[in-house]
Amino acid sequence: GIDGIPPIRLGPWLLNESSTVFVLIWLTVLAGWWFAYNLLGSRVGRTIRALRGGAVLMASFGSDAFRLRLTLFVLASGYATLAGWLFAHTHRYVSHTPFSLHASIDYVFMMVVGGMAQLGSALLGSTVYIGLNNFLQDLLPLFTNRGAQVNSLVFALLFLLILERMPGGIGRPLARLAAKWRKPRHINTELPVPSAALTERTMPEAGSLLLRVDGAVRRFGGLVAVNKVSFDIRAGEIVGLIGPNGAGKSTMFNLLTGTLALSEGNVQFLGQSIKALTQRQIALRGVARTFQHVKLRPAMTLLENVALGAHARGRCGLWRGGLGLDQEEEARIMAEAMRQLARVGLADRAYELAGSLPLGTQRLLEIARALASDPVLIMLDEPAAGLRLLEKQALARLLSALRTEGVTVLVVEHDMEFVMSLVDRIVVMNFGSKIAEGRPEEVRSDPEVQAAYLGSDV
Ligand code: ADP
Ligand code: MG
Repeated sequence: GIDGIPPIRLGPWLLNESSTVFVLIWLTVLAGWWFAYNLLGSRVGRTIRALRGGAVLMASFGSDAFRLRLTLFVLASGYATLAGWLFAHTHRYVSHTPFSLHASIDYVFMMVVGGMAQLGSALLGSTVYIGLNNFLQDLLPLFTNRGAQVNSLVFALLFLLILERMPGGIGRPLARLAAKWRKPRHINTELPVPSAALTERTMPEAGSLLLRVDGAVRRFGGLVAVNKVSFDIRAGEIVGLIGPNGAGKSTMFNLLTGTLALSEGNVQFLGQSIKALTQRQIALRGVARTFQHVKLRPAMTLLENVALGAHARGRCGLWRGGLGLDQEEEARIMAEAMRQLARVGLADRAYELAGSLPLGTQRLLEIARALASDPVLIMLDEPAAGLRLLEKQALARLLSALRTEGVTVLVVEHDMEFVMSLVDRIVVMNFGSKIAEGRPEEVRSDPEVQAAYLGSDV
């Protein structure tokens, strides 16, 4: 061990009594809490919370999950360092004994009891643990001389009981109560008005070459899922990529977004090859996407889900977020998210949780999120799948409206009727190859296309 550690001296104050150290410890807890609270509500914090559902979503909006996880690890170490410093100077002596395996189990216990979903749970869990532990240590010796064993037994039982009865910890029901109590105020809150909007990209001139796919090939072992496909997309068009199931549409989509690597061929976006770029780098150049299997964060509000899309348009990092110095930028991001929600007709539900939406509406929400990234090209993978007729019509209206606003759209679809009335041009794939390309009416009368769709359910 290390002994002779001096008490903490802050300027003129020597904190050598437990009452003064007590105050310092609580001030530190409050400061740490305040920082974490601010951080979780900030741009970086939203991404941290969104990471829980997997890293693909945020990569497609330009965030670097590895870097973020590393940053979080360092931040958590910072908190642990502060705690260790307080511990050492309070006890004036450190050894390895309090940091045995048992300590790790204690921390897990605190986390399970409190729950992990809310910030307050950390405090709740540790308070319950420390309080109960102290109480039992005072109480048990009055009844038994095997206090330590009985103590472990009580905690083991409590642990099992909580896992069994309250899997989210005791923090969750409390948070739910608090949310109920807070809700009305939240909804009536007007968003702060920013002094300016987020900066927007300069869009390429309508009709100029945006994307060029040149002899794209993708093999999966012996299977050629995409076989020498070439086509162009010009700025301001809606292009449909259609074909029967298994034609290679999703694979093509993944090649264009950088989710899969090309086996051969090339893809150029705005005149530059994106062949060697990662998903994240392609997203940063202005390609936004939605997912065939909707990727929303059900526990976040509609507004927050859309704000995730604007991630790459903000600059405030961990420190500014944690210290609450990001208000102006947050106001801009939220105003932008609200504007995109209004564009898809969901502004009045901004504060509902995304998990409560029906599937059709979830797809609209994904489109709003993609739009929030200020994309040059927006790519939709089977946006009409699973939608009812009215929802399909609403989606078609939205996409036409986007074209009027100059957004370029690539729709990957299985449902031919849905795209026919909507798009300017269609590329048809079958068994990995392009079999036709042209205006909808040309493609519809093409014998090869009719043959490909015969027997499929369209
Ligand atoms: P579509 O989206 O047009 O229905 P896909 O692009 O999903 O078609 O699939 C095209 C072909 O590639 C299918 O035969 C499919 O089984 C195959 N395929 C797709 N992804 C993979 C993969 N990751 N591994 C192996 N085969 C795949
Ligand atoms: Mg598909």
